[in-house]
Amino acid sequence: MNQLKVVVLGPPSVGKGTYSSRFSKDLDLVHISTGDLIRKSIEDETELGKKAKDYVNSGELVPDELVIELFKERISKPDCEKGFLLDGFPRTAAQAEALDKITKIDVVLNLIASDEVIIDRVSGRRICRKCATIYHIRNIPTKVEGVCDKCGGETYQREDDKPEKVKTRLSVYQEKTKPLIDFYKNKDLLRDVDVNSPIEQYPKVWENVKAIFDEIKSK
Ligand code: AMP
Repeated sequence: MNQLKVVVLGPPSVGKGTYSSRFSKDLDLVHISTGDLIRKSIEDETELGKKAKDYVNSGELVPDELVIELFKERISKPDCEKGFLLDGFPRTAAQAEALDKITKIDVVLNLIASDEVIIDRVSGRRICRKCATIYHIRNIPTKVEGVCDKCGGETYQREDDKPEKVKTRLSVYQEKTKPLIDFYKNKDLLRDVDVNSPIEQYPKVWENVKAIFDEIKSK
């Protein structure tokens, strides 16, 4: 298989960003997080960033046409020639249909964790303002509090990780993104991945994910 195109699905704070970053390294694929791209646009005060800011900070989804445009622009870059891993896209039926028209996806990894694990992950999450590395105050702490280990940037709690915004994001997920599970199940692309264990036990998770890719490659 020359190109590999992977979608990572899952509820907010299940660990999509952290696991996607590890999977993309192990698969040698570009990691595309629409959340990171949108946050960067907001930070840089681009036209898209200005339009997206209020949606993101309130926990709502950014309108489909804006995200689809952002996605198309990103995958047209030369580093996507070998394929890519999509973290946080698609998130609505309209986005999944747009993606279907643009390219053929090989597999959709559906990340699963219990409500307790999700609540713990979201409440302790901190991210780097500069390089978007994800930390957790207890599970993945920075060496120096508030300072990114990788680039020295400031780490912060996302506005939409505050409890009332998380509630909105979870209900948006139930209404708009969860239906994609059936959409991809019907195409026989969906594979569940249990990510309840802490990230230190990543090798166990990777073993399961690797088996999924071995199965795909043998087809
Ligand atoms: P994430 O970092 O994936 O949790 O995304 C953070 C926020 O960015 C979401 O709550 C949305 O406001 C916005 N966002 C990211 N990806 C998408 C998408 N595919 N469609 C619409 N909004 C998105």
